[in-house]
Amino acid sequence: MRFVVLCLLVMFFLLMTYQTRNHPQIRYNHLLDRIQHPFDTRLRYRIAEVDPRFGLTENELQLISQQATDIWKQGTGKDYFVYDPKARLAIHLIYDQRQEESNQRRQHLGTIQQSQQTWSNKKQNLKQFKEELNRANELLEAKKNQLDLRLDQYNQKIALINQNGDLKPSQHDLFIQQHHQLQQQIFALEQEINLYNQKIQQLNSHVDELNQINQQLNQSIDQFNQRFQPHLFDKGLFNGQHINIYEFESADDLRLTLAHEFGHALGLKHNQDPKALMYPIMKDQQMHNFRLSMADLALLQTR
Ligand SMILES: [Zn+2]
Repeated sequence: MRFVVLCLLVMFFLLMTYQTRNHPQIRYNHLLDRIQHPFDTRLRYRIAEVDPRFGLTENELQLISQQATDIWKQGTGKDYFVYDPKARLAIHLIYDQRQEESNQRRQHLGTIQQSQQTWSNKKQNLKQFKEELNRANELLEAKKNQLDLRLDQYNQKIALINQNGDLKPSQHDLFIQQHHQLQQQIFALEQEINLYNQKIQQLNSHVDELNQINQQLNQSIDQFNQRFQPHLFDKGLFNGQHINIYEFESADDLRLTLAHEFGHALGLKHNQDPKALMYPIMKDQQMHNFRLSMADLALLQTR
């Protein structure tokens, strides 16, 4: 009997050793869990606490964690993780200055995007205004040419009469009338030109304004880029017993950060592909509908 128990113990020990070597993630499970589920190699995790300042419920975090584990499942076809409220590995959302910074980053970004929108609207309006003025200019040019022509004709007639020296009374009245008309037309055209010049001045001040906005916008973008560097994945931390999350900007961001930390729980280190989940900086990854990269899968194969 003692021998049988001893044999069973040895077999169990061997199974444990084999599993730990081939499925490194299960070393983070409770020993009791491993005894209770001897052939289940999935890493058990639970949600420990959610600081209310994150504005996220425990259920929402559980769902996002599940989606983070799904990234691994979809990429490999294997189940590496399972939610278990009694698990040893616990996910904590810890609110500190990193999330404060993240909130400020979002606010700054919002302001910049608004200014960009304003700039782009103004630019569009200005383009239309400019086109209108170009058309007005062409029209004025045509009117001026016509008037010049009429003035020439009128002057030629006057010159002819002055040469011949005979002007009938009926012609005299006609000339006075024509002269009057021409003066009126010149006056109207001058007024139109004045109005056009005023509009040109308006256009120029709008262009100045637009350039100023553009300058301010570039300054804001420079300031933003100086102040807010790309995110390191140190906003999350895996230490064997906990996955601590200190900062995220959106559900997509949180999902990816969790998936990255789950990767560490699988025994993976970082890789060199900026689009990969296990790249140490979160910047160039596809945030929504993320898929594991070849570099991530290669890490998993060589762990
Ligand atoms: Zn990392």
